[in-house]
Amino acid sequence: MSKPPVLVWLRQDLRLADNPALRAAAEGGAPVVAAYVLDDDGAGAWKRGGASRWWLHHSLASLQRDLAALGASLVLRIGPAARELDALLEETGARAVYWNRCYEPATRARDEAIKWSLQARGIEARSFNASLLFEPWTIATQTGGPFKVYSPFARACRAAPAPAAPLAAPASLARPAAMPASLPLEALALLPVAPDWAGGLRASWTPGEAGAQARLATFLAGPIAGYKEERNRPDIEATSRLSPHLHFGEISPRQLWHAAKLREGGGPDHFVSEILWREFAYHLLHHFPHLPERNWRDDFDAFPWAEDKAGLAAWRRGRTGYPIVDAGMRELWTTGWMHNRVRMIAASFLVKDLLVHWRQGEDWFWDTLVDADLANNAASWQWVAGCGADAAPYFRVFNPVLQGEKFDPAGDYVRRFVPELARLPAKFIHRPWEADDATLRAAGVELGRGYPRRIVDHGVARDRALAAFSKLRKPA
Ligand SMILES: Cc1cc2nc3c(=O)[nH]c(=O)nc-3n(C[C@H](O)[C@H](O)[C@H](O)COP(=O)(O)OP(=O)(O)OC[C@H]3O[C@@H](n4cnc5c(N)ncnc54)[C@H](O)[C@@H]3O)c2cc1C
Repeated sequence: MSKPPVLVWLRQDLRLADNPALRAAAEGGAPVVAAYVLDDDGAGAWKRGGASRWWLHHSLASLQRDLAALGASLVLRIGPAARELDALLEETGARAVYWNRCYEPATRARDEAIKWSLQARGIEARSFNASLLFEPWTIATQTGGPFKVYSPFARACRAAPAPAAPLAAPASLARPAAMPASLPLEALALLPVAPDWAGGLRASWTPGEAGAQARLATFLAGPIAGYKEERNRPDIEATSRLSPHLHFGEISPRQLWHAAKLREGGGPDHFVSEILWREFAYHLLHHFPHLPERNWRDDFDAFPWAEDKAGLAAWRRGRTGYPIVDAGMRELWTTGWMHNRVRMIAASFLVKDLLVHWRQGEDWFWDTLVDADLANNAASWQWVAGCGADAAPYFRVFNPVLQGEKFDPAGDYVRRFVPELARLPAKFIHRPWEADDATLRAAGVELGRGYPRRIVDHGVARDRALAAFSKLRKPA
């Protein structure tokens, strides 16, 4: 009698190579049923945002094509994962479910319940690590606790046994005699309905495993060598832009680690350090599951945040009057991504210059980023706001003019995303309010009409932020 099929439940591991759950199923020799279940409620309060849903649609389409090339197919379902998995077990006669682990608190709780329920019914339930270099609970301080500071965490990771070499994609997958029915991808309703705001996303990205590998190849062929020196420059393509691919598991951190380790020099080594920032964020989320919702430092619970609706709206639309902030917010809106340095500047502007709560910024990024990632987004917002683990001190307030001049020296990044200012000379591109009338006229800029005047004076806003901060009790 032929073996019953194994159900491979795909989630944030939308790839064939280095996919331990898929590989284990393939190696067992049983027919494989690969399934994706869109379970919005399973994510708790953190249902995917619009840009993420756009990405997911295209990533699933790409995976369907890749599985078809192996003679397999992807079954799509919608609804609570437990219910849909049960239906698939029933329909296929499968006696085993394999998946790769997720680390978001609501998803983790759901998955644990599913595992118990399957095992209680004698169904094999196996989970694997596919998204992290190190499981969050395996890296610990000398006293066995979680790390709260990045540098010793990164040192501990580097001293740990190296992550295993990436697995090859299965050469073939056996098909069950009868494949369960799949919903058409369109039924998942992941794409925007009118208006279609995704044109800039389509022009910027190729979701899917092949797109991820192409990005990696481009990065390895050039930018990685100068990564250490140039990664803070938004005006040049100096970073990998792999974050959405990593989030959806179209490429694995193990693949990146081993690709970087094969190369000499400060660039590849610094790239590993950034991958370890991602690991640190997951470590924090694992040990502090309220990270996306609550101040990690609870003395910040008393912080006097402002209710600045107009400021928040101007920030979201890229109309603050500070060119580097506006360029970043418009890059985000157009492409679904923003350079890391500019994320820091724009986030600092929201929480410090406008005193708007970091959760408002976190929510906006969650909806608009193609790489929206619960661990990275929460840890980074708390880092910028000063209330997170190993955070930038609150009194370190980014000056958007000096940051712009340092990291976008010729103003090319601003010119690209804020075309109203494109003809301003570099001297004024980050401080247009200082240009004289003749210069503004020659550049076709009329402040307050085409491009806005500054919504706050940074010097005044900085003093206000420091005064607010000084009212907090000092951390123990
Ligand atoms: C306010 C704010 C919000 C952020 N929100 C997210 C988010 O939702 N999702 C997300 O993936 N990243 C987030 N980041 C981190 C960082 O900006 C992006 O990971 C990075 O810009 C992605 O570009 P890249 O792939 O070219 O990075 P590279 O420089 O090529 O780095 C390689 C990978 O390392 C990881 N990485 C790099 N920097 C960081 C960092 N500071 N923290 C954690 N991981 C890092 C990412 O997975 C990245 O893809 C946020 C940063 C800030 C300041």
